[in-house]
Amino acid sequence: MPQQLAAPVADIKHLIGGRFTPASDCTTFESRDPHDNSLLAHVARGTAEDGSAAITAARAAFDDGPWPKMTAKQRAAVLHALADEVDEHRDELAMLETRDGGKTINQSLHAEIPRVAHNLRFFADYAAMAANEAYPDGDLLSYVLYPPAGVVSAISPWNAPLMLATWKIAPALAFGNTVVLKPAPQTPLTAHRFGELALAAGLPPGVLNIVHGFGGEAVAGPLTSDPRVDRITFTGSSATGVKILQAAAAHHTPVSAELGGKSANIVFADADLDVAVPMSIRAIFAGNGQVCLSGSRLLVHNDIMDTFLDRFVTEADRLIVGDPKEASTFIGPLIEERHLEKVHRYVELAEEEGGKIVTGGARLVDDAHRNGFYYPPTVITGLTNNARTAREEIFGPVETVLGFDTEEEALRIANDSPYGLAGMLFTQNLDRAHRMAARWRAGTVWINTFFERDLRLPFGGEGASGLGREGGQYSREFFTEPRAVTLRLHP
Ligand code: NAD
Repeated sequence: MPQQLAAPVADIKHLIGGRFTPASDCTTFESRDPHDNSLLAHVARGTAEDGSAAITAARAAFDDGPWPKMTAKQRAAVLHALADEVDEHRDELAMLETRDGGKTINQSLHAEIPRVAHNLRFFADYAAMAANEAYPDGDLLSYVLYPPAGVVSAISPWNAPLMLATWKIAPALAFGNTVVLKPAPQTPLTAHRFGELALAAGLPPGVLNIVHGFGGEAVAGPLTSDPRVDRITFTGSSATGVKILQAAAAHHTPVSAELGGKSANIVFADADLDVAVPMSIRAIFAGNGQVCLSGSRLLVHNDIMDTFLDRFVTEADRLIVGDPKEASTFIGPLIEERHLEKVHRYVELAEEEGGKIVTGGARLVDDAHRNGFYYPPTVITGLTNNARTAREEIFGPVETVLGFDTEEEALRIANDSPYGLAGMLFTQNLDRAHRMAARWRAGTVWINTFFERDLRLPFGGEGASGLGREGGQYSREFFTEPRAVTLRLHP
């Protein structure tokens, strides 16, 4: 396990045009550790002027700098050097992520920071090796060019900070764009360190700019409404997604929006419970339920409901909730007090809606937890799919369990949601599994597994879960401006 930081309070500035600069009005906000609310950093509180300055720097680096003119192979070399820096500083980045957002150290160290390096390497290689189409037809030869789109605004959330930021930055850069990243105000630390590592790896100034602060009219305003921005890639809540789409519409700026979810996890009577129970536990409680893909609506066949629920609740009660810096911890604190209060209000609402709290349901306030934002694994039964608790995204360690009798009923409940991000099902009947996958209204369907990600696959959601897909060729289509070229060959 990495050393815990001695934690001198950091002073975090924007990265604009290769320089670390304070906010234009010199104001800051605080970033705090959700484990004990201790102060971690003073962070530049970005103004609209800062957002605009970052776009100017990204624009200049795109219009006049070397980056878009380099070959994909040359860009890949820089991105690989950056991935090497990430690998070299893995312990440090993991501890920063864990302190800033309450993510367990196991997850930061073994999943998310390695995925940061993987994002960089994958898209570097993909861009360098992607095939291009050519259509010779008689005396006509047509082919497709994929020039970079230009300046990309990347706006990311707090729940997997650097992993999701690099899910945007890596393809944007690999295909030759320049970027302005705005990380979530709750978790600025790893983005800042990543900016330092990017300069050390040789990324030219202005190619990656990072501005900190809040949404709305401040720093994020220009990122979504400035006509000099060519693409907006956003991951966050469905409500913010609507605002960003509205702002982007003014200049017809294309938006990729990866939004919220309320995904169904369906366990059939023939499921192997030795797989389905631990996977279902992970699907909702890993990451504290603060995962867009969480299987937060658990649908269990009524024939196995009692057996399944008994095992599920027993395992949920065994999960260690505590200091995320400890290797044994499975559930860390929620991101902030306001969010904990929101999660708890949903649990109260569930009771008002006729639900039964089988386990959990109240903030942890004993000595080990009282200084942080700790909420235990919570399981609710007795609701229908019409309950708000079963329909709205809670984004916490709260599972609503519903029963079903037939495949058709399970599918109907799964699809009866404003969201369409993911779905998972457990069965030993592969015919059924494929039938379900074909009719499921969700961007990703997992069968007898959960959270496996192949970066070549399209990633995104339907309905309130988003717009567009990223990953492999889908990222190339979004971050470039595909151009058809046709020439006539004269004899
Ligand atoms: P959020 O929408 O509050 O904020 C996300 C980012 O948008 C932050 O950087 C925030 O400062 C910025 N922002 C807020 N208002 C803005 C505005 N008007 N204009 C521009 N930027 C603005 O979301 P959050 O609470 O940080 O993240 C949790 C949400 O993200 C959940 O709904 C979760 O499901 C979703 N999420 C989705 C995916 C996915 O891939 N589909 C992945 C992770 C998280």
